[in-house]
Amino acid sequence: MNMPGQMMYAPLLLSSLLAQAAQRAAAVEIVSRRVEGDIHRYTYRDCHARAMQLANALTRRGIHGGDRVGTLAWNGYRHMELYYGISGIGAVCHTINPRLFPEQIAYIINHARDRMICFDASFAPLVEQIAHQCPHVETWMMLGDEAALPDAFAIPLESYEAFIGEHPAQFAWPQFDEREAAALCYTSGTTGNPKGVLYSHRSLTLMAYASVAPDALCLSAADTIAPVVPMFHVNAWGLPFSAALVGAKLVLPGAKLDGESLCALFEQEGVTCSAGVPTVWLGLADYMRRNDKRSGTFKRAIVGGSACPPQLAGSLGELGINAVHAWGMTELSPVGTVCSPSHNYADKPADERACLDAKQGRAIAGIELKIVGADGEPLTWDGKSAGDLMARGHWVLDRYYGVEQSPLEGGWFPTGDVATIDADGYMQITDRSKDVIKSGGEWISSIELECIAMSHPEVEMVACIACEHPKWDERPLLVVVRRPDSTLTASDLLAFYEGKVAKWWIPDDVVFVSELPLTATGKLHKLVLRQRFGQHFVGTCARPA
Ligand code: ADP
Repeated sequence: MNMPGQMMYAPLLLSSLLAQAAQRAAAVEIVSRRVEGDIHRYTYRDCHARAMQLANALTRRGIHGGDRVGTLAWNGYRHMELYYGISGIGAVCHTINPRLFPEQIAYIINHARDRMICFDASFAPLVEQIAHQCPHVETWMMLGDEAALPDAFAIPLESYEAFIGEHPAQFAWPQFDEREAAALCYTSGTTGNPKGVLYSHRSLTLMAYASVAPDALCLSAADTIAPVVPMFHVNAWGLPFSAALVGAKLVLPGAKLDGESLCALFEQEGVTCSAGVPTVWLGLADYMRRNDKRSGTFKRAIVGGSACPPQLAGSLGELGINAVHAWGMTELSPVGTVCSPSHNYADKPADERACLDAKQGRAIAGIELKIVGADGEPLTWDGKSAGDLMARGHWVLDRYYGVEQSPLEGGWFPTGDVATIDADGYMQITDRSKDVIKSGGEWISSIELECIAMSHPEVEMVACIACEHPKWDERPLLVVVRRPDSTLTASDLLAFYEGKVAKWWIPDDVVFVSELPLTATGKLHKLVLRQRFGQHFVGTCARPA
């Protein structure tokens, strides 16, 4: 016979994270660099009060549970209020990536059927461009004062401050099923249309609980956390929730993400921990090195979104900043693995520890991983066998928004990444399955070849792509941006690979370019490169295997 447990039950709702922070961390600051250029500061108590004003305003406006409210905004305090105010009444906070093409943004707004769009003043021209393509949006709301609204505008606008201003800062957050939707985020859709991932209160709250743990992102009330990863990119990796959970000071950097601006903000606010993609850290490390800067407080940079080149971890290390490698994806809310030391890490020799640090890490509690071969059978965790990476867990997607058919295979989500896992559970991404280079029936890891090129002092940025080859099916080509004033040649760079990888892995050629195309989430846009250079070896019969 079953015996129910006799403990209290309350649904896991995001509103409880902010309400509790407003009590336990009432005076802890949330500091924002506004798009207006100045610094705004207030506390968790203030944030909660204004989120309650917003909740009252939305309710009065007739926004109901399940309705979608879109945001086009940088990391800032008003965006934080939207996260909590919208989801708190049971509506869905739909964060939209403003770096997508305008047609994609209009597609996403229409697909989600957003009733309201809240946007930063800097996106007013974008809004003017797309508004006429979005017939279901009833309200366009600019995140600012009434006085800041532009005089002549193509469509009627409202101001956020006027919208929430007259409402009371008291609101009884409703209690509802924790599996209700809280937030919506579309994948960047480098191939095909973007797909919506609809997070629940339960999934985001559980991820917040798991991600603060020491072996995960290791966040505490003593931290000052600066999410550089945008709040429109997978909820800034959940940091607005996990920071509130522990009551850490939050520093929201707005639109200025260059090395100099970040360095100044981090120093001024005593930031201890931050999170962003490798390009952000390359910019910061470069600025700090060139200007002989050191930080007294900033000790932990969480690096995710793309592989962290070992040379980046090295240069951050020289500046006294520990690079913490993490892996995830929109469909995983996004935190899947974090590279934290396992029980026997300290006993390993330095070179083995360095190899481990370069990996994407171990699954955080609540996430399970497996790798499978072409036949779908699990591969051994030996650190060598590479296969398709599958994930399951409390914050992994079950179905895309508005798509009937689930992508799951036997209850597991196929990530589209190819990886190895070693006996201690450290996972290493070797490629995205669509980027893997298939040469003469064997696989070559484009990420590994990129990491080697990045360790060359004259290489600023690199992409390694598969090019069609008449004899070997595909061969690797390096597309490289040299550092300023570098005279590096193709043969110099190819010689640099000797002894570092098997001979047949060495790329066949190098092309130098002035810049590399990036996706809306700041990753190398390899599809564009393959369209441009994919035929580079056709008509030649380069390197023998
Ligand atoms: P999108 O799929 O829209 O590009 P995501 O942010 O969801 O955006 O990207 C997820 C993908 O990014 C992963 O499947 C993986 O290929 C890549 N990725 C994320 N973190 C890492 C990492 N630390 N190392 C290598 N690749 C990573």
